[in-house]
Amino acid sequence: MLEKLPKTGGGSQYAFGLRLFGTNMEAEAGVLDQTDDYVRSALNTCRWEIEPRMIGNVFEALGECFDWMSTWAPVEENWEVCMSPWGVVAAEKKTPGGAGWFVTQYAEHHCRALGVEILTSHSAKKLLMENGKIVGAVADDGAGDVEIKAKATLFATGNISQGEILRRMCPTVYYADSTPCSHRLPSNTGDHIRMAEDAGISIDSKGVAAAYLGGMLSAGIPTAYLAKNVWRGEVLKVNKSGKRWINESVDAESAVWAQLKQPGCTSYIIMDQAIMDSDALPAYAPVVNRTGRNIAEGIPDENGIFAQMGRPHMNFYQEQESDKSAKKVFQELMSLDGGHAFVADDLKTLARLIGLPIEDFLHTVSRYNELCDKGHDDDYYKLPIFLKPIRTGPFYAIRTNMATDGVFGGLEADESMRVVSRGKPVEGLYCAGDTIGNRFIAPGGEKIESINDFTWAYASGYLAAEQILSNITDN
Ligand SMILES: Cc1cc2nc3c(=O)[nH]c(=O)nc-3n(C[C@H](O)[C@H](O)[C@H](O)COP(=O)(O)OP(=O)(O)OC[C@H]3O[C@@H](n4cnc5c(N)ncnc54)[C@H](O)[C@@H]3O)c2cc1C
Repeated sequence: MLEKLPKTGGGSQYAFGLRLFGTNMEAEAGVLDQTDDYVRSALNTCRWEIEPRMIGNVFEALGECFDWMSTWAPVEENWEVCMSPWGVVAAEKKTPGGAGWFVTQYAEHHCRALGVEILTSHSAKKLLMENGKIVGAVADDGAGDVEIKAKATLFATGNISQGEILRRMCPTVYYADSTPCSHRLPSNTGDHIRMAEDAGISIDSKGVAAAYLGGMLSAGIPTAYLAKNVWRGEVLKVNKSGKRWINESVDAESAVWAQLKQPGCTSYIIMDQAIMDSDALPAYAPVVNRTGRNIAEGIPDENGIFAQMGRPHMNFYQEQESDKSAKKVFQELMSLDGGHAFVADDLKTLARLIGLPIEDFLHTVSRYNELCDKGHDDDYYKLPIFLKPIRTGPFYAIRTNMATDGVFGGLEADESMRVVSRGKPVEGLYCAGDTIGNRFIAPGGEKIESINDFTWAYASGYLAAEQILSNITDN
């Protein structure tokens, strides 16, 4: 196993939820096996443009993979498994890390116990090919080239979130004022694309897509209190022209394309003291959001009600930082250079501080307050419970920008996780995880996915390994 960084784990080690279905543990607990529901749901989300057999094989491998991992260590001891708005989700119990941390640490431990040689600080740079078959790879260990012959080779280099290949394959991720706080591992430079190209393998460039994040704090990762204010429905959101641009209760991911169209992709959250002092209302969000993330379709709660999508980051940060007072966190943001937060006794001064056109902003607030008083949002159809006027000073503003959650894909896989080139599988070459572009659809370059990235990486890696083993054994 070749790993470019000094340590294994990749982006996977940071991931939280591992969606589960079809596991022994669920069967024993009397939870219905909803693998087929999830397959249907994923295909619906991806408009039936992706290959049902490939999705089915990976989703079916998920339960098997978890059952197999559970034989390494008892489930009850290590996993926190819960019904959540995203279905049955597993997370690691004893450390602050989630399922990703547990899986990557245990996988490494297990590999070493089985005698797998793990070569860290070895960057794979070239595929070895003989008579059209991939027979290994060449890696750079910093001192020179190391050649490794293999009966099968698996690309699991992750996404394309840094470097020259990103700029070439997905230039649209460079937008004004982007926030550098997203899921970008320095080693995720899309090396699978360069190596495949060098070997004459076709690249699925239409299957390269970004997962955009809207509503990100311009100062970076949100704290508990600020996350709550970024992603709550009862604020007013204006763009750099001082105009309202969205139904504020729409979740940040579903609003990404609208935010991309705003000047500088920037939005300001406006609150008055009454909103600042009030607890956030429960989130309003669809079961399946725009980007296909967090699908909960077919997963009713104990009362038979379909779960609403929650906000994982918000909950996480709330747990982490619930002891911080709102005022303290806001002041921290205010103390940073760069204009991330503003406060003023009157709306005119607030507009001046932010740099918004004053008259336009005042007109926006007055129109918004009129709609709040009327109890019907004629402009953006926000639910009445979220209509809270901006009236009681002091007034607050927080700047938010866009970010990406990574750029994915480049390779096409078949239903056995073999790399496909010009419609045919490449002998000896497999792929898994973020490298696979035909597991999602990419309208306008945005990733609409079949399941969350980590669950896909986990199950597709297992399926690829199973296929490799059976092919090696057959030959
Ligand atoms: C901070 C963070 C938080 C995340 N949170 C979530 C989450 O909550 N839920 C979720 O679903 N997803 C989350 N993700 C995304 C998710 O973890 C990944 O998309 C997924 O796990 C990718 O798995 P992978 O195996 O394809 O790639 P990775 O786990 O990124 O593994 C790729 C590995 O290949 C190595 N590599 C790259 N090029 C080479 C080369 N040329 N030679 C040798 N090695 C190479 C990399 O160093 C890396 O170790 C998060 C990612 C990050 C970074």
